[in-house]
Amino acid sequence: MARITLRQLLDHAAERGYGVPAFNINNMEQGLAIMEAAAAVDAPVIIQASRGARSYAGDIMLSKMIDALEEMYPQIPLCLHQDHGNDEATCATAIKYGFTSVMMDGSLKADAKTAADYEYNVDITRRVVEMAHWVGASVEGELGVLGSLEHGGGEQEDGHGLEGKVSREQLLTDPDQAVDFVRATKVDALAIAMGTSHGAYKFSRKPDGEILAMNVIEEIHRRLPNTHLVMHGSSSVPQALQDMFNQFGGEMPQTWGVPVEEIVRGIRHGVRKVNIDTDCRLAMTAIFRKVGASSKVEFDPRKFLKPAMDSMRELCRERFEQFGAAGNASKIKVLPLSEMAKRYRSGALDPRIGGMTAAA
Ligand SMILES: [Zn+2]
Repeated sequence: MARITLRQLLDHAAERGYGVPAFNINNMEQGLAIMEAAAAVDAPVIIQASRGARSYAGDIMLSKMIDALEEMYPQIPLCLHQDHGNDEATCATAIKYGFTSVMMDGSLKADAKTAADYEYNVDITRRVVEMAHWVGASVEGELGVLGSLEHGGGEQEDGHGLEGKVSREQLLTDPDQAVDFVRATKVDALAIAMGTSHGAYKFSRKPDGEILAMNVIEEIHRRLPNTHLVMHGSSSVPQALQDMFNQFGGEMPQTWGVPVEEIVRGIRHGVRKVNIDTDCRLAMTAIFRKVGASSKVEFDPRKFLKPAMDSMRELCRERFEQFGAAGNASKIKVLPLSEMAKRYRSGALDPRIGGMTAAA
C-alpha cells in the first residue's frame, strides 16, 4: 500500500528537481488511465478530486475506487488530494475519506466565486493547516485569484471560479505577500496566480509574458526557495486534440493552453505540482466524437470508453515524462500519516524562509 502525502511526495520532487502532474478523477476510466500510465513509466501519482467530482461519484464510490487503484498498483506512491476546498468542512471530510492532502482555497470565499481578502485567506488556511497536520495530512494554500490577464475574469468549472472581474494586481500573486502568507499559515505547498485559468479557454493567442506571467513564479521562488509551488489550470490544450474534436462534429473555438515548455521552465523554478484536467477531458471526449461519427450504429459504451482511456493514458504518460516524474516511484519509501504527524508536531516540517524556520 502506498498512500503518500503531498508533502512527502513534493519534498522528494524538490530534492530531485522534478514536477508531478496532478490529474483529476471523476470515474473509474480516468483512475485506470492515470495508474496504467504511472506504472508504465514508474512515476508517483497525484490524483485529485474537486467538490464537483465528490458529488458526481459520491465520497464512498470515490474513496473505494482509490482503495482499489492502490491495491492494483501497490508499487506506485499515490497521493489523493482535495482540489479547491472551499471551507474547513470540505477539507475535514476529505481527510475522513482517505485524502492525504487538501487544498484550502481561501482566495475565494466559501461560495467559491467571490474574491476574499488577505486576512480571511490567512485565517482560514491557518486553521485548516492546524487541523490537517494533527493527523499528518498536507495542505496546499492559494494566494492571488486565478483568472485571465486578458480579460480580468475567472473561469467557472465544477461550480468553482471567480465570478465577475478583478484587478490585474489581484490576478498576480504578490511575492512579498507570499513570504508572509507561508510564514503565517505553514502551508506545505502554495498555488500562485500568474494568468492561468481553468477550462479550455485560457488564452486567445499563444501566451507570452504579458498574459502568462512566468516571472512571478521565478520571483516567488527566489524569495521562498524551499516552498513547493503549484501551477493551476495548466493544461496545454494540444492542437491535435482540438483538431480531432472539431473534425468529428465538435465546434470548439480555437484556443491556447499553457505550453509544456513553460511548465518545464516553471519546474526549474520551484513548481512541483502541475494541475491538469482539461487535457484529460479532451483526450477522452475527442475520441467519443471520433467513435460516434465513425460508427453510427455503435451502442456499446465500452467501444467509446476503451479507446478514450487509451488516449488519456498516453497523455498522462507524456506529462509524467515531460515533467521528469518518470523513474521516481520506485525511489520513494512512503511514510505513514502517523509519522508525518509526528514530524509536524516536532516542528521539523515548518516552512523554511530564507534558510530559517518560520519559528526562528
Ligand atoms: Zn485549480
